[in-house]
Amino acid sequence: MELKLYDTLTKQKQPFRPLDPKNVRMYVCGPTVYDFAHIGNARPVIVFDVVFRLLRHVYGENHVTYVRNITDVDDKINARALRDFPDLPLNDAIRRVTEKTAAQFHADVAALGCLKPTFEPRATEFVLPRTDGKTDMVTLITQLIARGHAYEAGGEVLFDTASMPDYGLLSGRKLEDQQAGARIAVDAHKKNPADFVLWKQSSDDEPGWDSPWGRGRPGWHIECSAMSAAYLGEVFDIHGGGLDLIFPHHENEIAQSRCAHGTHTMANIWMHNGFLQVEGEKMSKSLGNFVTINELLRDWPGEVLRLNMLKTHYRSPIDWTLKGLEESAKTLDDWYEVAADSKGEVASGAVLEALSDDLNTPQVVASLHGLRNAAASGDAKQREAFAASLRLLGFLSDSAAGWKAKKQQASGIDAAQVNSLLSDRAAARARKDFKESDRIRDELAAMGVVIKDSKEGTTWEIAR
Ligand code: AMP
Ligand code: ZN
Repeated sequence: MELKLYDTLTKQKQPFRPLDPKNVRMYVCGPTVYDFAHIGNARPVIVFDVVFRLLRHVYGENHVTYVRNITDVDDKINARALRDFPDLPLNDAIRRVTEKTAAQFHADVAALGCLKPTFEPRATEFVLPRTDGKTDMVTLITQLIARGHAYEAGGEVLFDTASMPDYGLLSGRKLEDQQAGARIAVDAHKKNPADFVLWKQSSDDEPGWDSPWGRGRPGWHIECSAMSAAYLGEVFDIHGGGLDLIFPHHENEIAQSRCAHGTHTMANIWMHNGFLQVEGEKMSKSLGNFVTINELLRDWPGEVLRLNMLKTHYRSPIDWTLKGLEESAKTLDDWYEVAADSKGEVASGAVLEALSDDLNTPQVVASLHGLRNAAASGDAKQREAFAASLRLLGFLSDSAAGWKAKKQQASGIDAAQVNSLLSDRAAARARKDFKESDRIRDELAAMGVVIKDSKEGTTWEIAR
């Protein structure tokens, strides 16, 4: 079975051939830690977690290195630190903001069933040259200047886009177009409107590091060039992120890394997930149409959010709706019932094949429905393959009982209270007080609990 992945750079599905099958290397741009992550931010985390799991399955658990950074230097972080901790010195305030936000992010994505990346470097630890000799931003910028790809002007260090003949390949933006179309006044100190900041000066009340260009801080793009090289080398296999990162972020990462190292390529495959949308618009902080992962986890187990994400192919837009979530929750209820107690270890060939075709998760979900039906009609082998496939995809982390408890907890319904009402109702029915038993049934319904009476007794479930 050949793994094929769509590459944004060549605009084609490419057969995946790792540079070193003993160490398959992937870098994904991580969060800027100034606020709770929204469910749109969870999309790349879930999508690339599936890529990570698939690569581990194919090449072996110890033969895949996955790096996802944390951006902990950013003007939005400074602003948040000043707002939330006005009485602390700025550096302490920044640390409080970034530590709290990073911890929340970790808790959120763990609840979504995502494995930890192999390394999770923080940008601030890669600004200055390091004792361990891993690539850092100041050294990269120095190399870019020495090779004639960057210049100092107006207190900044800028990347000289004209020094790179094929700048713009990833996004398909040509430099000439950008010059001709430049409506915005070109910053006077830039040679070219497309030139971008590698280093900028910091005022006394901004975070800063002493560098050959004075006290300052790095631009955003250089972070990822440094941290990817630090852990994965100058050229690696897969680089990922959301569609909005193609330009300028990834375009500029490519320019920096290739020009600093003198290579033709930064990563062999560039993967980008599509947007998660609300009523046709990209979910984003700035539009205010967002819901945080944390808020959603109060109402839904993380696996429901995960399945809801994977029902759509990663390159297509997803419309995030309540109806979709309800359906995903129902599906998982059923899958847990059929598979949770099975110990299967060998995932289904059809599921692996669909995953290997550029992560065709809608096809995977279709195959899972087929396996479920075969399993439910008594095929023990298919039941094992079903359970193993679900686990490969990061589902079934709970037992069947654990799942039920989680759903009850997420619904805010107190199982002990429901059971006590049910026994009051049974008592009322026994003494033929149907008025009271109906009243209790209505009370439960108002709580969102549906009860079913049968010969075996009364069972209940959460109405969704
Ligand atoms: P940000 O914190 O905005 O830099 O985003 C972190 C990651 O989430 C990046 O990979 C973005 O491309 C991705 N992202 C942000 N918003 C969305 C969205 N609405 N849908 C899908 N991915 C998104
Ligand atoms: Zn990045």
